[in-house]
Amino acid sequence: MQEYQDNPRLHLVRGEGSWLIDGEGQRYLDGNASVWTNVHGHNDPDLNRALQEQLSQVAHVTLLGLNHPVATGLTEDLATLTGGALPRCFFTDNGSNAIEVALKLSFQYWQLVGKESKRGVISMEGAYHGDTFGTMSVGGRSEFHERFAPWLFAAQTFPAPVHSECAGQVARSDASASLAALEALLVRDAATTACVILEPRVQGAAGMVQQPAGFVKAVAVLCRQHGVHLILDEVFTGFGRLGALTVAETEGVVPDFLCLAKGLAAGYLPLAATLTSEKIYEAFLGKFSEGRTFFHGHTFSGNPLGCAVARASLRKLRPMLASGQVAERADLLGREMAAAFAGHPHVRTFRQVGLTGSVEFKPVAAKCWPTDTRAGYRVALAARRHGLIIRPLGDSILFVPPISIQADEVKHLVRAVHLAMEEALAGLEY
Ligand SMILES: *Cc1c(COP(=O)(O)O)cnc(C)c1O
Repeated sequence: MQEYQDNPRLHLVRGEGSWLIDGEGQRYLDGNASVWTNVHGHNDPDLNRALQEQLSQVAHVTLLGLNHPVATGLTEDLATLTGGALPRCFFTDNGSNAIEVALKLSFQYWQLVGKESKRGVISMEGAYHGDTFGTMSVGGRSEFHERFAPWLFAAQTFPAPVHSECAGQVARSDASASLAALEALLVRDAATTACVILEPRVQGAAGMVQQPAGFVKAVAVLCRQHGVHLILDEVFTGFGRLGALTVAETEGVVPDFLCLAKGLAAGYLPLAATLTSEKIYEAFLGKFSEGRTFFHGHTFSGNPLGCAVARASLRKLRPMLASGQVAERADLLGREMAAAFAGHPHVRTFRQVGLTGSVEFKPVAAKCWPTDTRAGYRVALAARRHGLIIRPLGDSILFVPPISIQADEVKHLVRAVHLAMEEALAGLEY
C-alpha cells in the first residue's frame, strides 16, 4: 500500500474489447486480462445481452436446497468439457473455494467408503491454489503465505518438472525426477493419501512455470494406479488460456475433480465450479442419519447472473477456439517475445505457452538487484506510459491478455513491455 500511495493512482472507468480507459480518456491494453479472467474482452455485446436478459428475470436465488434453470443449464454445459465423465457440479464463487470444495469432497469421500486413513494431500512445489487456509496449506511456501505456516495443515510435496518453451521451441525439459518423486510418495503413502492436486501445464502464480506436454497424463496414470484422487486446478488454465477449453481435454485426462473459476464467467462476475463424477456424488447419498451430507455452502454460490454470462461465454468460445484464432495469437505472442527478449542484456529468461508468458529481468553486471529496487514493478509503472496495464511478479512481468486479443494488440503488448523495460531498467545501478 505504501507503493500504491506513493505512485500515481489509476482509476479505470470504462472497458472496450482488450482495452481499459481512465477518467481522462487514456487507453490501456489490459495485459493481465483483469487478473487472468477476461475471455471475450470488456463490454462484449453478447455477454452484456445475456446478463441483461437474466437480470430482467432474477438477480439471485440461493442454491441451498433450491435451483434455477440457468445453473442446471450451465451444469449440463460444463459436463460436456469431460464428455460427460464429470456430470456433477458444485458451484461456489471464487477459485479458492472451488479448491476447498474439491479437497473437502475428497477427504469426506474416503471416509464415506470406509477408508478413513486416506487423509493426506500431495501437491507440487511452487503451487498456488488460493489464499484461504486450506488452499494455502496445499500451496507452495511462497512469501505470500510463509507467515501463516504455523496455522496450516501438513501436505506432502513433490518437485516440479524442469521445462521451458516459447513459440513451441523447447529450451530445456526433464520431467523424470518429478515423476519419480511422485511415484515414490504414492508407493509409500497411497494408503494414507486422499488426493494429488495439480495446476496442469502452467503454474500461473509461480511465474508461468511450465510442464512438458504429456506430464499431466503421466501424473493422472500414477494417481489411478495407486487409487488416489486427482484434483486438477484449472482455475487459471481453463477456458482458452492454453488454446483449449481445458488442459484435461488436451492431455486426454479425466480427473476426479476439475476446478474452474477465473475465465468461467468470462471476467464479468465471480463464479466457480468443482466438477466431479457420478461415482463420487453417489457416495454422499443416504438417509440424513447416515451423516453423508456435505456441509458446505456459500451465500452467492451459482449466482444466476454469473451462470447466464458463463453459458453465453462458452457458446462464443467454442467456435473461437475451433477457428484457430487463439492458437495463432498464442504463436504470435511467442514469436514477438522471442524477437524482443532473446539475448537482451536485461533478460534472464522468458517463456510462453498459449496466452501465458513471463519475462524475468536481471541487472547487466550483478547477480540480482536489492529487493527494494522492485524492477518488475518499475517496468509495470513505465508500461502505463506506453498504453499498457500489466502486473509484475518480483523481477518479472507476466503476460496474460484476454483470450480474444487481436494480432496488432499482441504486438502492442510486447512492444510496450520492451520499451518500458528499456526505460525503467536503464537508469538502475548494477
Ligand atoms: C487465481 C487462482 C486461484 C484462486 O482463485 P480466486 O478466485 O482468486 O480465489 C486458484 N488456483 C489458481 C491456479 C489460480 O490461478
